Amino acid sequence: MSDSPANWHPSSWHQFPAAQMPPWPDPAEYQETIKTISQFPPLVFAGEIRALKEILAKAAEGEAFLLQGGDCAENFSQCTAPYIRETLKVLLQMSIILTYAGGKPVAKVGRIAGQFAKPRSSNMEKIGDLEFPSFRGDMVNSPEFTAEARRPDPQRLIKGYYVACATMNLLRAFTKGGYAALHRVHAWNNDFVKNSPIGQNYEVLAEQISKALNFFETIGLDVDSPRFNQANVYTSHEALLLGYEEALTRRDSTTGEWYDCSAHMIWIGDRTRQLDGAHIEFFRGVLNPVGVKIGPSYNLDETLRLIEILNPENEPGRLTLITRFGAGKVGDYLPPLARAVKNAGHKVVWCCDPMHGNTYVAESGHKTRNFDDIMGEVGDFFSIHRSEGTNPGGVHLEMTGENVTECIGGGRKIENDHLKLNYATQCDPRLNAEQSLDLAFHLAQLVHG
Ligand code: PEP
Ligand code: MN
Repeated sequence: MSDSPANWHPSSWHQFPAAQMPPWPDPAEYQETIKTISQFPPLVFAGEIRALKEILAKAAEGEAFLLQGGDCAENFSQCTAPYIRETLKVLLQMSIILTYAGGKPVAKVGRIAGQFAKPRSSNMEKIGDLEFPSFRGDMVNSPEFTAEARRPDPQRLIKGYYVACATMNLLRAFTKGGYAALHRVHAWNNDFVKNSPIGQNYEVLAEQISKALNFFETIGLDVDSPRFNQANVYTSHEALLLGYEEALTRRDSTTGEWYDCSAHMIWIGDRTRQLDGAHIEFFRGVLNPVGVKIGPSYNLDETLRLIEILNPENEPGRLTLITRFGAGKVGDYLPPLARAVKNAGHKVVWCCDPMHGNTYVAESGHKTRNFDDIMGEVGDFFSIHRSEGTNPGGVHLEMTGENVTECIGGGRKIENDHLKLNYATQCDPRLNAEQSLDLAFHLAQLVHG
């Protein structure tokens, strides 16, 4: 028994044009790697995917909040315990701020354990007289600007699987093994953030939580139970490389349903959401919660059709619309979309990506984003949804637990001249740990209403 559409199969996308696919130089070698991956175990399980869908169903109703965030592009060489731990810590901190001060349960979803493939606006990159294929993420090629590094290598798909697996393993250990226990709420605060005003705000909140826990313990509640000691952190990535995604798409042995077991949640990027394209075909048949990025180029009728194709049963939690218009544009583009989706009766999670519409190149040549623009788009997102009678259900962020200098502004007032100090991203600029907490405190007020 399968609830996937009758004329769908994990490979039916092959019949449709697939945008953004790397030109693998040796198709036979590529096929061989896909076959190998199709025999590997799934990275996540159907029961976990269904649990995420349940919280997202609440987010669609305004009773929970989606916090989705992580690197723009994960880096194979950063699959280390400290790096994963710092990302997890900041996600846990933001989530506790949103839960405690915002008053809603939070679905924590990392852009993690598989965010290795990037869509590009140009197939080639030119510097001076040299021109090589664009970097498409660690699962395809390597960022160094040489012909050899930029050659797509299908062995990277296999490495991507293993790196996702190792990341997932540590995430499970941290979140189920005591690291995410509420009584460790102080320990999640980063050394370089702790003494800042934002870090101090966090300490105050952590202290209140510690006191509440002591109180619960005193009156005899079991504060060692999983509810206090464990966290659910889910994984997500842009499911761009459909061959890899197909290879990890499996039937759930208990229900017979098809799930893409490469991550709990997967999303379609702004560049691959064509109605007649291979990505929509693949996504319509897997039962994971799915996201679609919607930028200023959207067409209203096509978007309504896309919603019907991806969520024909109108199941809440199945579909998240991740809007990314830019601070100056959200007021023009979001209201008609929110109104039309509401009038059509579609149940979706409305999620704000305040990053991708606010990217610009600084004088220094670095790609950056301004914290004020990011906050501006988030603020408008909330007020527009409140006045349209739709629920602002989540945010989608590019962020890291490291002390990077990639986005301008925030508590430490990063300026143009500071960008070079620790500009470490492989792709788009991320909020650092302090900017992420700063955003979370603002968000909590908006969520609380
Ligand atoms: C991204 O999320 O990194 C990305 C490429 O976004 P978008 O598809 O919205 O441009
Ligand atoms: Mn990005």
